Amino acid sequence: MANFNTHLSIAAAASTGAALLSVDANVITVNDMPWLVFVGTLGGILPDIDASNSRPVKLLFNVLALMGVAAALQVFEGKYVSYLILAIAAVTYLAIRYGVFALFNKLTVHRGVFHSILAAVFFALLMVSISYYLVHWDVLHSWLNGLFISLGFIVHLLLDEFYSVDLLNKRMKKSFGTALKFFSYSNMTASALMTVCTLALYWITPPPLPLVKVLKGVHWDNYLKPVRFFQNHNQAFAFSHLIPSSMLGENCDSKQGHSK
Ligand SMILES: [Zn+2]
Repeated sequence: MANFNTHLSIAAAASTGAALLSVDANVITVNDMPWLVFVGTLGGILPDIDASNSRPVKLLFNVLALMGVAAALQVFEGKYVSYLILAIAAVTYLAIRYGVFALFNKLTVHRGVFHSILAAVFFALLMVSISYYLVHWDVLHSWLNGLFISLGFIVHLLLDEFYSVDLLNKRMKKSFGTALKFFSYSNMTASALMTVCTLALYWITPPPLPLVKVLKGVHWDNYLKPVRFFQNHNQAFAFSHLIPSSMLGENCDSKQGHSK
């Protein structure tokens, strides 16, 4: 299994590559890069929130508990005496950090529904919705956030599968196929619940029209040129083995003649 640091660095590298390509293709500006690399890297550690004692899940529940404290302070400020508000804040922190955390651990299995393509789509749409409705970003940047988090997420799943192959013994480990799957076949209730949540999020997310418009404007031909070059050369190499060189010569001549 790939460890935390491997997931972090590979996701950061993949997100940086994707961000550089997006800048080059004029999809984003250089200023957008650091944030999107951060989002992609976050996506790269997100699937392991289902591992009870993993660093991402502890970090996530600390952040959630602090957000709960902030919300509690805002709601009760001015309504009660200060020591009571502090007590409410402390109880909120402990309830989320330890109570909800224990419940979450009980309900999730490592490499269950959180290690699936369905979860990647779920988190992408969740990120779009949070960016658009809570942080009030524009549609284009909200969708870019969603895309980058799912990019990091999928890189994580691929890496988990890659580490399932025992290269020295040339055999598959037991964990092969448990990371990159469409949904969790072993826990259909969790999969069904996540499908419902994904569909609900899809329903509320703003249509990605600005992103589609920007992507349509990209000159993809420039990026496909190297691929075509290798394809053509490989074909030429393959044909040169099958077709007598005299015929190839004729072909070239006729082509040249045609172009004149
Ligand atoms: Zn994992």
